[in-house]
Amino acid sequence: LSPIHVIGGGLAGSEAAWQIANAGVPVVLHEMRPVRGTDAHKTDGLAELVCSNSFRSDDARTNAVGLLHAEMRRLGSLVMRCGDANQVPAGGALAVDRDAFSAAVTQALDAHPLVTIERGEIAGLPPAEWDSVIVATGPLTSPALAEAILQLTGETSLAFFDAIAPIVHRDSIDMDVAWFQSRYDKAGPGGTGADYINCPMTREQYEAFVDGLLAGEKTSFKGWELNTPYFDGCLPIEVMAERGRETLRHGPMKPFGLTNPHKEGPAAKSYAIVQLRQDNALGTLYNMVGFQTKLKHGAQVELFRTIPGLENAEFARLGGLHRNTYLNSPVVLDPALRLKAQPRLRFAGQITGCEGYVESAAMGLLAGRLAAAERLGSPLTPPPADTAMGALLNHITGGHIATIDEGPRSFQPMNVNFGLFPPLTEAPKGEDGKKLKGTAKAIARKMAITDRARVAMETWAAAQEGGR
Ligand code: FAD
Repeated sequence: LSPIHVIGGGLAGSEAAWQIANAGVPVVLHEMRPVRGTDAHKTDGLAELVCSNSFRSDDARTNAVGLLHAEMRRLGSLVMRCGDANQVPAGGALAVDRDAFSAAVTQALDAHPLVTIERGEIAGLPPAEWDSVIVATGPLTSPALAEAILQLTGETSLAFFDAIAPIVHRDSIDMDVAWFQSRYDKAGPGGTGADYINCPMTREQYEAFVDGLLAGEKTSFKGWELNTPYFDGCLPIEVMAERGRETLRHGPMKPFGLTNPHKEGPAAKSYAIVQLRQDNALGTLYNMVGFQTKLKHGAQVELFRTIPGLENAEFARLGGLHRNTYLNSPVVLDPALRLKAQPRLRFAGQITGCEGYVESAAMGLLAGRLAAAERLGSPLTPPPADTAMGALLNHITGGHIATIDEGPRSFQPMNVNFGLFPPLTEAPKGEDGKKLKGTAKAIARKMAITDRARVAMETWAAAQEGGR
């Protein structure tokens, strides 16, 4: 068998190489460090954790990332094995000794007879004779390779900056205050004329909001982010507010063409309006349109909950702005993570638009298995969307909805979360058969989703094992 080439020995690439080798296929893992560094990595170890040492919650019953841990363990993940073996105390979270973790991953791959590790940058498209390649070069992909990918995919398909507007769970929005309507009831392609959720503001509420925005604590750019281009099209809302108190009201918060059905007469016209747009095909997540921000996370939650209709908002992710190289995956990748324009190239990790150590490793695991199965002549069906792996894959390769006025460019990287799973067909009930409310309802819902996922993953994994 000729080898599969994996570019990038980070979280995704290390896991992909392990899965390929364990499937009995030779693999060459190309890592540019220490020959060439990045602005964030400090060592030459594989799977280096560049910032926090936490894999987040290990609770597989009520936490989506905990469920992802469990699925990865079930599928023989090297990252999880080395994480488990090098834990440090962190309550309900799985945190690791970063050096021991990275050393364990490096050692395991080094020792595997089917793995060859080559140190050096792949400074352009891989040679044509490499017929199966996984690109897992992460958020800080080297400029030469990023440029080659950009040439191949087109300018709008590779982003270098992650300008994230907060994303809200739909069922936490108060629809007695907010309402569905598109501006001037306009139905764009695929739209109905009532595609946005609108949250109305009076003049007093708007003024207080602008004050809160200007006063709120912001995060500052880190050294390695400073040289990244910054486009006018995605200015943070606080920067817009600094340009003038009315700027937001003429920008993302403009009230025109929208009428509040909960009010009558002049009160039906609002002074300012915050719009939320559907963010996934399931309709469980909505993003706050134009609300990219560098406010600190705590300040965002506090301020955004002052918006009428969002008083109890639960955020699937908060806003941010940082350097990140990632593809417009729903458009350029197929469901098996291959580049449609050149299917010998498969992508994995953060460059596909997932976010986080665990998610990146999970997509590396999947890419590795998909590539190995293809090499062995028995292509693999990706896991179903009701598993954590499948939900994340679905977000990356197509679950995200192409939006009306921004087009598919609105795809934003995301951590795994319950909003990515298909909704339950039936709301869970209490032991007495009665409807649940509040926290009990939220916990029961999460448990029902993870129960469903466990069964689906077991069926999928067993089918792979049976097929070997
Ligand atoms: P990486 O782990 O970055 O691996 C990519 C590898 O590819 C690197 O080793 C790099 O040297 C190599 N490479 C790049 N270009 C080439 C090339 N042309 N040829 C050969 N090799 C190449 N996530 C969290 O969960 N928690 C955090 O605290 C966290 N903090 C972060 C802080 C920063 C500064 C950044 C940038 C990201 C952070 N992330 C965090 C997000 C992300 O999950 C991690 O970056 C994660 O490591 C991504 O995994 P990956 O395998 O896709 O990329």
